[in-house]
Amino acid sequence: MKMILNQEPLNEIAQCAQSVKECILDVEDFPISGVAFKDLGPLWANPDLSGRAIEAMVQMVEVNQGVPDCVVGIESRGFIFGLAMAQRWNVPFVPFRKPGKLPGELKRVAYALEYGTAELECQVNSIQAGMRVLVHDDVFATGGTARAAMQLVKSCGAELTGCSFILSLDGLNGSQNWPLPAADKTCLSLVHFE
Ligand code: AMP
Repeated sequence: MKMILNQEPLNEIAQCAQSVKECILDVEDFPISGVAFKDLGPLWANPDLSGRAIEAMVQMVEVNQGVPDCVVGIESRGFIFGLAMAQRWNVPFVPFRKPGKLPGELKRVAYALEYGTAELECQVNSIQAGMRVLVHDDVFATGGTARAAMQLVKSCGAELTGCSFILSLDGLNGSQNWPLPAADKTCLSLVHFE
């Protein structure tokens, strides 16, 4: 009986991951030629599946990294599940934003994307030293955005518990040179694509 109960969340995570995978759309040559864009619109539009996916990600993070003290969401699609997960744990949500969006004293990091370059900013007092921080984004591609966000978290004197993504493009080998130990636990994705 105990074993069956223990397996239920795992089965739900696997079933949810399959449903999420099936609803994601591939958009060829967007936003530039040669990029296959993963459109998560059908997931956001489905309240039942979105709710299940948030819960699945909460479970995956709790099991592998523990409950964080704070969730960082990367602009802009990292805000969607990032805030929902933070609310689920009743911890603060901190947006990491593109330049020019946040007021006050800021920290900034520059990085390379799968397409182009970018910068992220956070407000200096948004993350307290010693906090255990989860970084969340929608897609893990080359890993440059996540690595930049982790640098920004560390520059605040906080501790990283790891990252979570809705989907990972494994063929891009973003987890090579992953800066945290135990990438299988600290770099979590609900869904994997080649
Ligand atoms: P990267 O830094 O290469 O891991 O890229 C991750 C960021 O770029 C995320 O914020 C994604 O929203 C976006 N991104 C990169 N590649 C894709 C893709 N193929 N489909 C959708 N979003 C992507």
